[in-house]
Amino acid sequence: MTDYSMEVIPKPKEGTAAVFSWSGEKGKFAVIKGEGNDNYICGACGNVICQNVNRGQIINLVIACPNCGSYNILKGT
Ligand SMILES: [Zn+2]
Repeated sequence: MTDYSMEVIPKPKEGTAAVFSWSGEKGKFAVIKGEGNDNYICGACGNVICQNVNRGQIINLVIACPNCGSYNILKGT
């Protein structure tokens, strides 16, 4: 299991990126869960956004943290 810190970016302009945002209750939890070996962590608040995913599984996706609302992308993939 490896933890990767994600990179916080400004809110993407409408239509320029695929954004996964959570519309439910806010809190510290993962919005994407898989069966892999890696965790991806919000670069702003440390919340685990993606739990047990495979490296390379989530590409070109901006994910809004359900805890703090920051927009995160993966570094170096
Ligand atoms: Zn966060």
